[in-house]
Amino acid sequence: MTLPFDRQPSAQQTREKRVFNFSPGPAVLPLPVLEEIQRDLLALPGAGSSVLEISHRSPAFDAILAEAEANLRELLVVPDDYRVLFLQGGASLQFSMIPINLLRSRDLPASYILTGSWGSKAAVEARREGKVHVAWDGKADNFVRVPDDEELDLPPALAYVHYTSNETIQGVQFRRPPAVGDAPLVCDVSSDFLSGPVDVREFGLLYACAQKNAGPSGVTVVVVSDQVLERCGDDVHSMLSYRLQAEKGSRLNTPNVFGVYVFLLMTRWLRDEVGGLEAAAERAAAKSALIYDVLDRDGGDFFVAHAERECRSHMNVTFRLRRPELEEAFVAGAAERDLVSIKGHRSVGGFRISAYNAMPAEGVERLRDYMLEFREAH
Ligand SMILES: *Cc1c(COP(=O)(O)O)cnc(C)c1O
Repeated sequence: MTLPFDRQPSAQQTREKRVFNFSPGPAVLPLPVLEEIQRDLLALPGAGSSVLEISHRSPAFDAILAEAEANLRELLVVPDDYRVLFLQGGASLQFSMIPINLLRSRDLPASYILTGSWGSKAAVEARREGKVHVAWDGKADNFVRVPDDEELDLPPALAYVHYTSNETIQGVQFRRPPAVGDAPLVCDVSSDFLSGPVDVREFGLLYACAQKNAGPSGVTVVVVSDQVLERCGDDVHSMLSYRLQAEKGSRLNTPNVFGVYVFLLMTRWLRDEVGGLEAAAERAAAKSALIYDVLDRDGGDFFVAHAERECRSHMNVTFRLRRPELEEAFVAGAAERDLVSIKGHRSVGGFRISAYNAMPAEGVERLRDYMLEFREAH
């Protein structure tokens, strides 16, 4: 694909070219957010320079960082004894930073609850730093559900317990955090971050890459309690140290200025247009229900949902066709209707509909209608 730098389509033309993009990430952003970026890209109001050109120590970025944090604290109700960090390296670097800070040189093991691909990858990195115990592993059942609390095998003394609130690839989601006793609960919330309220007090550390539900790639939000920060080891490279990153207010080096700016716009949009996280949760439940209803028609005689009912993700709906030979036709027909990026992850196959906060209900409704039409035709 060539990128024609010389072409200058009008804003209207560009908007009309937009499809319904069900990509799992980087994912759809709200049109008003994109339009604001576009409008202010050449000169940020008051700064006279693009957000791409300003110093990360400038007053303009001071204001962006401060408001991004304040908005997140308000939306998520982050208690005062928790720090908010804007880091780089994606959620994947957190797979390493967590054990480097909390497991390295410790006698205690960390325990991992494995409900899909991402949690399993996190455990691989943790094993490089210390003892890793597995509290539950859904692999034998092809990761179709999350465990009940009674199924968790948790030793009494643990450095922390790690789990993934929403497994993006398998489409399985916890409805509430697992009960793990006294150990700090560490959660990868990458793909359901800001999709509904959570009680931050239940967690020692939460982390999310922004490119699923909260902005562009390249910025990762970490919310960590002071208590957990105190437990962090000292034998840590500066850039990988939560404590140092917190002391330096996420500006130990140059942060992703643009990413934090877009994250700020996302928090404003969530607050002002969506109406907060309760409203976001209702929207997500309603949108995903449109697709699950189709999957369940006549006992799933045509479409087959991947996840068990109680654990079905409100963000990523995963399914396959009973007749796999129809898959190609299904994708082609969807593309004709401007419904794109619906294929499942290569490790799971089938289809995955990612309907994050920014996916309009209209897009999911069009997909639902298409699925019914396709089923009827075949
Ligand atoms: C996408 C994703 C990741 C990986 O994110 P990167 O930013 O690419 O490292 C990790 N965990 C979950 C749950 C994800 O959805």
